[in-house]
Amino acid sequence: MKNRSIIKTVFAFLCFLLISTQVFAGKKIHTVFFEGEENELHVYRINGSKPGKTLLVMGGIQGDEPGGFLAADFYADFLLEKGNLIVVPRANFPSILKKERKINQDMNRKFLDDNIFNYETKVVNVLKKLICESDCLLNLHEGSGIYSSKWESKEKNPKRFGQSIIADGSLLKKPDSQKSVHLEKMAKKVIDKINRHIENKDHFFHFNNHRTNDPDSIHKEQLKSATYYAYHICKIPAFGIESARFLPLEQKVLQHIYAVNGFMEILDIIPKTPGIDLKKPQMQYMIISVNDSTPVVVEKMQRLKINKGDMIQVHDIVSNYERGLSIDVIGLGNQFNDMKKRLIVNESTRIEAKKDFYTCGSVFLDIDPKGSRVEKKQVIVSESSKTSSLRYKLKINGRLKIVDNYSHVIIRRGDKFIIEDIIAGIVDPSKYIVNFKGFVGNSRNNSGEDRGYLIDTGKKVLMKRYSVNKKDQHYYVLTTLNGKEVGKIFIDIQS
Ligand SMILES: [Zn+2]
Repeated sequence: MKNRSIIKTVFAFLCFLLISTQVFAGKKIHTVFFEGEENELHVYRINGSKPGKTLLVMGGIQGDEPGGFLAADFYADFLLEKGNLIVVPRANFPSILKKERKINQDMNRKFLDDNIFNYETKVVNVLKKLICESDCLLNLHEGSGIYSSKWESKEKNPKRFGQSIIADGSLLKKPDSQKSVHLEKMAKKVIDKINRHIENKDHFFHFNNHRTNDPDSIHKEQLKSATYYAYHICKIPAFGIESARFLPLEQKVLQHIYAVNGFMEILDIIPKTPGIDLKKPQMQYMIISVNDSTPVVVEKMQRLKINKGDMIQVHDIVSNYERGLSIDVIGLGNQFNDMKKRLIVNESTRIEAKKDFYTCGSVFLDIDPKGSRVEKKQVIVSESSKTSSLRYKLKINGRLKIVDNYSHVIIRRGDKFIIEDIIAGIVDPSKYIVNFKGFVGNSRNNSGEDRGYLIDTGKKVLMKRYSVNKKDQHYYVLTTLNGKEVGKIFIDIQS
């Protein structure tokens, strides 16, 4: 027991180091609230090099509105020249996993006058603090039908939300002698920008003034919403951005992005890097331990042999996405996320990996029918297809790429390349030396170990004489264990 608490302390310290280096390098702070609970909440604070206003971008407060949370997700990867972003891509992760509007209660009706205690309360309490820390709030949604100020049809009328930017009033009165803020003007500026990208005039965005606190408002329910809390309590401009639910996903996400970009412009928040790419979620591997053994890597579709009654624990999953990941051990655990849970397995089953509500891969737990007791620390992973056991986890321009041993990796000159780690099955990866020949990671103590160093191929950091024919094009990474070669990958740099 004592050992475990030491390990925990060391682990916490390593996490702290990791977080603090991120702060210095990228001016980005990632905070996790309620870690390990169903309602884990990830908050990304991105600070520009120059000071400025802070915009809070919130998505996923209702889990069946992916247009909002997938758009918010992009901003978690932003870097800024000026101003700040606080990004909460998935305010209500359990509801996203279920693709449902709410779990216990609509989370967006809990910001004022609420006394029911549930996980939604805990999340809302954090969100309230973030709102009052910001200069502006955008709550990204998908709405039914299309909003129109006049009644046109059942699907297009003042009660609908789709294709509108909502505010709780047209003016925000600031305390004391400060000038009022024209919410309507702000929204209309942004709406102009969004509509430039919309071909079908019937789908144009409009300003939707809920006049939430007026006696004759038709949206009294919004008195409990996040935007009204921002408007009424924190006295900051706040908008609900609603893309119409029936539109194709890409279009909804894009509209949200135009909206967020528009508000960033008004607030003079200047980005360094945008980008949009909705790739298909693909799990690469899970890290699993059996009866508290050293965790092993189990790749997609592989089978892990265990005995009846063994305790398994999934520590992590790696996929082409970093956020929104969860696992479901079929038949065990609970209906949300079984990540990090210790579960006793009595029957063969499957562990399904999910990114939000998309299934992105499985591994199998096979109960050994003979029940022959496997040594406690020895875990057998069987391959469904042949692969050499050693693989490389690379990051090229920030993107994760897993490559097999002895494969060629083609990059372009100028690409930023990091050998994050090797995946070595059940052997501790720190026992290996992974050496990019021609690159010196640590010049004070050149052990040859180059994992974790940023190799900027655009700068002259590689020593030509190590490349094939000294042409500065073909390099290799050599992996050794106890001084013996166990693997290589070849790095081909294209100009
Ligand atoms: Zn919504």
